[in-house]
Amino acid sequence: ALAAEIILETKGLTKEFKGFVAVNGVDLQVRRGDIHALIGPNGAGKTTFFNLLTKFLPPTRGTITYLGSDITNERPAQTARRGIVRSFQISAVFPHMTVLENVRAALQRNLGTSFHFWKPERSLFHLHERARALLGEVDLSAFADELTVNLPYGRKRALELATTMALEPDLMLLDEPTQGMGHEDVSRVTQLIKKVSAGRTILMVEHNMNVVSSIADRITVLQRGAVIADGPYAEVSRNPQVIEAYMGA
Ligand code: ADP
Repeated sequence: ALAAEIILETKGLTKEFKGFVAVNGVDLQVRRGDIHALIGPNGAGKTTFFNLLTKFLPPTRGTITYLGSDITNERPAQTARRGIVRSFQISAVFPHMTVLENVRAALQRNLGTSFHFWKPERSLFHLHERARALLGEVDLSAFADELTVNLPYGRKRALELATTMALEPDLMLLDEPTQGMGHEDVSRVTQLIKKVSAGRTILMVEHNMNVVSSIADRITVLQRGAVIADGPYAEVSRNPQVIEAYMGA
């Protein structure tokens, strides 16, 4: 069998804040098609690592390679244009637009990021159809004409997922997608991520080990900024250090 393509790779990625090492020499590889979970206790450096990937923060040392190109010193917009898109945490939806309008707005923003002469994708009809299809993908068809502000929390998260998918991400970064959710929403959003992961690559920060165990292909465990375990889920979940810290055994 062919080895899976590595789309994102960090080498020795490090971020120091006034001498405090928040991310410490992280080597990480994300394979195309995987759901890759990044886990670790509070303060482990997960958010900082995401901020380095999206260029929200410059690294102190180390490199980020995407599809063979060194993107370490690229600006955030350039990296976003490559299709590395972060969802959640920074809410991308407008509360006083309807659910459908929000997805259409995201599709329009995406078309606006590159220069074209007329393309059929820009027709209102096409946008509308695309928006409806995306809502279907995240099981929100029945909510299309609701004001976003009125959506239940879990459904809002699903809408954020749809607006992220509208940007046609090559690599989706999900920041604690089930944070603050009740049991029912957690399982719905988990299934949704599983569903939309078909044909996509996802790197997600997730605290809930039930979620990680049910959908992650690979996991990387961070502790005090450094990787303590990394690999296929089945392997890492048997690592005694990881079991002690996360599996409650
Ligand atoms: P996690 O997302 O895993 O909870 P963070 O990446 O948020 O961890 O934080 C890692 C460490 O870096 C924490 O100790 C945090 O206090 C510190 N840190 C994060 N951002 C800054 C900053 N801008 N200045 C100083 N310290 C920071």
